[in-house]
Amino acid sequence: MNDLERCTQCILPSSYPGIQFDESGVCNYCRGALQNQGRSEDKKSKADLDKIVMAHKGKNPEYDAIVGLSGGKDSTYVAYYLKKEYDLKILGFNYDIGYRSDYATQNLRRVTDKLDMDLVTIRPKRSFLLRLFAHFMKKRGEFCSVCNNLGYLIGASFLRSQKRTLGFSGLSVGGWSKKYEFQQNISVTSMRYFFGNLTDDLFQQLLAQPFIDNDVVMSFKNSHDPRQAQIGTKEHKQLGEHAMNFIQLPDYIDWNIREIPHVLARDLGWSHPKDMHESHFDCLLFPIKEYLKLKKYGLTQETIKNSVLIREGLMTRDEAFQRACMEQSEEPSIMNTFLEEISLTKDDINWNAEWSTG
Ligand SMILES: [Zn+2]
Repeated sequence: MNDLERCTQCILPSSYPGIQFDESGVCNYCRGALQNQGRSEDKKSKADLDKIVMAHKGKNPEYDAIVGLSGGKDSTYVAYYLKKEYDLKILGFNYDIGYRSDYATQNLRRVTDKLDMDLVTIRPKRSFLLRLFAHFMKKRGEFCSVCNNLGYLIGASFLRSQKRTLGFSGLSVGGWSKKYEFQQNISVTSMRYFFGNLTDDLFQQLLAQPFIDNDVVMSFKNSHDPRQAQIGTKEHKQLGEHAMNFIQLPDYIDWNIREIPHVLARDLGWSHPKDMHESHFDCLLFPIKEYLKLKKYGLTQETIKNSVLIREGLMTRDEAFQRACMEQSEEPSIMNTFLEEISLTKDDINWNAEWSTG
């Protein structure tokens, strides 16, 4: 981890797209954070959340809210919080691509049992998923955009079929998640990027999927990014009948990413692999993404998140270096299996394509 030139304040390396260092070696992301100090954020309040929840509670005879659940810490905490704080009747929604870790499976079971919730799992056809993965690996050198977008389209289609129900998620494209998880210039989450890279044939196959509402696809294809369109915003109104009553909980309440795993372990028996960081262990393919990112850009999501924590005074630079040993520097053992499944070799991966279209 030490062979790269790094920011002297956080740990971002010089290979991070768009990074610039000043004469004392401090990066533009750290300088930006300094400038933003004291500036009020566009954060919504707990009172706003109370209002939205109360307007929906009891309106649907079966469920008050649908919560996207992966078994990871953020989605689990959403369900936990809504039950504890508002005693909502929750329907868990899970999207399974066939690479769920045993930890995630166990957590899903414990959480739904403890919180006494129903759970719906949708597992799209494997053949279609593998074709999409192969296409994106060959074209852009990554495959995570498939899940990011397909999962959202399936979730949004399901939510639309359950009228008057609120949908909740732990992740947000703006707000909280933008702060810790969004990877400027290397993000592959945008719907514009996903649709822009699909062939006509794959797009037709997408429309033919039984769990995907074609109206949802068409309206999201034409909008900049529907995930930004949250209740109460101008974008939400513009989407009209396609607007999702979709709440990203971290935008409304404190989201202490260091505390949450402990609370969940204590109250729900939630667990995560001890030899790994607490993020994204729910997907067996995540190490491949991180490995590809490290080879291409010299960093992983952990580097970016810990750099933010350093800027906020929640982690020391030494601690961040220690945690770097958990980064995916070796080729993950699942990589060969995955490549075989999508019928590619390492040479078929486009190693040169940039991941983001900005
Ligand atoms: Zn920095």
